[in-house]
Amino acid sequence: MVSSTREVSAVNLKKMLRISIKLGLFIAFSSAAVWAKNLPQESPSVTISVFNDSGISSEILKEAEKVSSQVFEESGIHVDWVNCFPAEEAPGGEVACRQAAFPQHLHLRIVRRSLSLKDSTLGISYLLSDGTGCQADIFYEGIEKLRHETFVDPAIILGHVAAHEIGHLLLGNNSHSPWGIMRAHWNLGELARANKGLLLFTKSQSHRMTEKLCVAVAGGKWPSASGTELSAAE
Ligand SMILES: [Zn+2]
Repeated sequence: MVSSTREVSAVNLKKMLRISIKLGLFIAFSSAAVWAKNLPQESPSVTISVFNDSGISSEILKEAEKVSSQVFEESGIHVDWVNCFPAEEAPGGEVACRQAAFPQHLHLRIVRRSLSLKDSTLGISYLLSDGTGCQADIFYEGIEKLRHETFVDPAIILGHVAAHEIGHLLLGNNSHSPWGIMRAHWNLGELARANKGLLLFTKSQSHRMTEKLCVAVAGGKWPSASGTELSAAE
């Protein structure tokens, strides 16, 4: 789960506005630098089926997927996205949207709001007691509020929240860390780093995720997870 801290004063907002203008220029260069890199062919990959029930445009969604892919590429992981709802755009998408297999094929659902969690909660992942799980949800209204408060592009926020929740699924239980993208609570500092492409997984987290995906490809010891008996990753 990731949530935002919103104790933002008017003074801080003005300062953030000035900062965000500078950051907006910086992100254009940093994005180009990231995309210039090519992962080796043997890089582990994960497929994410995306169910967009939030009504956000496909443009924002695809930009967010690019942002999220960049975060995982920094960890040496390639992400294949399959957009399942409202339109199936990938060849063979119908089959891909029905299937899930831990840890190589996960599902991400974007909805407007949570019916039971606090408004500041941006996303949640569902893990079984053995630390496996294939499903994560994102709550877009919280991202919209952050956008209005910080002026950070919603696709950048959405992409990083998606990476955080997918990170939970790949890392297992107790996967929050005091810094980086797996911090439980995000404030202006996390959003500024996200805007610069610097909110990333730690080396240790990257290693754990790539190892889990490589083991799975090599024959795997993890069973498929279902959506039952769920507990929320805090
Ligand atoms: Zn979390």
